[in-house]
Amino acid sequence: MHQSLDIAAILRRAEQFSPHREVVSREPDRSCHRTTYGELAARARRLASALLRLGLEPGTRVATLCATHRQHWEAYYAAPIAGLVTHPLNPRLHPDDIAFIADHAGDRVLIVDEAFLPLYEQIRDRTPFRNVVVVGTAPPGLLGYEQLLATGDPEWQPAELDERSTALVTYTSGTTGRPKGVEVSHRAIAVHALSSALPGWLAIRDDDVVMPVVPMFHALAWGWPYTAALLGAKQVLPGPFLDPDSLLELIAGERVTLTGGVPTVWMGLLNTLDAAPGTHDTSSLRAVLSGGATAPPAMIEGLRGRHAVPLVHTWGMTELVMGAVANLTWDLQDAPEDEQRPHRYAQGVPMPFLEIRARGDAGYVAWDGQSLGELEIRGPWVAQEYVGAPEASAEQWTDDGWFRTGDVVTISDRGYIRIADRAKDLVKSGGEWISTPELESALMDHPAVAEAAVVAVADEKWTERPLAVVAFRPGTTATPEELREFIAPKVARWWLPERIEIVEAIPKTAVGKFNKLALRQQYDTPTDTPDAAKADS
Ligand code: AMP
Repeated sequence: MHQSLDIAAILRRAEQFSPHREVVSREPDRSCHRTTYGELAARARRLASALLRLGLEPGTRVATLCATHRQHWEAYYAAPIAGLVTHPLNPRLHPDDIAFIADHAGDRVLIVDEAFLPLYEQIRDRTPFRNVVVVGTAPPGLLGYEQLLATGDPEWQPAELDERSTALVTYTSGTTGRPKGVEVSHRAIAVHALSSALPGWLAIRDDDVVMPVVPMFHALAWGWPYTAALLGAKQVLPGPFLDPDSLLELIAGERVTLTGGVPTVWMGLLNTLDAAPGTHDTSSLRAVLSGGATAPPAMIEGLRGRHAVPLVHTWGMTELVMGAVANLTWDLQDAPEDEQRPHRYAQGVPMPFLEIRARGDAGYVAWDGQSLGELEIRGPWVAQEYVGAPEASAEQWTDDGWFRTGDVVTISDRGYIRIADRAKDLVKSGGEWISTPELESALMDHPAVAEAAVVAVADEKWTERPLAVVAFRPGTTATPEELREFIAPKVARWWLPERIEIVEAIPKTAVGKFNKLALRQQYDTPTDTPDAAKADS
């Protein structure tokens, strides 16, 4: 019973019990590469040995800048089983942020897709990589992935691992201030895999065909590369092709039973299905999980009602991977549709071993589905601190060790969490954060701008988009287009607000802060309030 819960044990399980189960991975030329857990596990062990032969100290960070494909999967396993740490980098961030994160984490090795080499060129002078390994054709001076793999010992087996040691590190983005890193232990990953696979949550079995659309650089791809391997489910890795047609082709061709991603992806899929009803075969799907941002009720109903695609709402965070899934509890399964619906729209019931509470103005609130409070959570896979950021950690964790999520929620008597608002001043667009303070600072650097406030407004495709409200200094002016051009070099392209409203003065609160509530009410509000959900049902 003292056997360690670690990633080597997950890999061993896949190699011994499911060696012939297939893993399908889309290549850059769109072809499907077919392999098995047996082959992948052997390659992951060999890669582990090759990484150690580079002379890396235990605990060294091995960064990845990759799409969701088989080599990324191998790296997810290879570094941790070698006593090293995988660090998936998010290629959608601004190059300055990627450079900061890689430097802060002390990444020494980079495994990078050939397609991301231009991005690597933009950060190379600011990053501490000693070895750069290219998946695809390596330019002169860099090492090819297969070339590195060939230097490894095919017979290599992992040494005993400490389950509390760090296996993976990921960074949150878009927060106020710099991105913050969290360490995930072997034990956290193993327990998360077990708990999330349970029947009331993902219910993963070996006859499932699992396709993670949530990228592997996001919240550990919700743990699916580990969970599916532990259970021996077939995996379908979509590579860089996340558009609806490519996904529908894989769903039909591979008979995908379970998939998961952000609402923007499923909104696109719904539009494609609506445009040509009956032309796509989605009959294999038993659940499409949507998380990372609110799944709009109209999308849930559209997929269920018009296309018989069961969309299941989930909630998670970088700091805890998956936290809750909105399946119906036993007492709701035969309930009238009207009673079931609000529970499908909620963010879900936390998985076993997670504990929750919500803190309101006058202490912890009742689980009555009405009282609002900030959700706090603890459990064996909830991060304990931000790496090297004691002040941010002190702010985000309570004195008794619960993580403050920044999500303002109600909790029902059955334990369903429903997000009503966000304490964090951020925009979540297409599942990715946009920092409003950063956009505001960039705008206020413009010589004509006196004040700038950015708020989230609801958007059908991206869930939320930033809207900027700007007031000029006396006697100066600029057009929205000029302002966008001015901030373009400072922020990621997709951060640029489509709407910039010009006002005389920005409304302020009693303490002189921008009154963002008033701005949101004036210019639109996201539709994820409990009242909106109630109105819908
Ligand atoms: P991240 O760390 O980028 O995964 O962001 C985590 C945050 O995304 C949560 O704290 C929520 O604010 C938001 N989020 C995640 N899932 C959902 C969901 N199903 N509905 C609404 N917001 C969500």
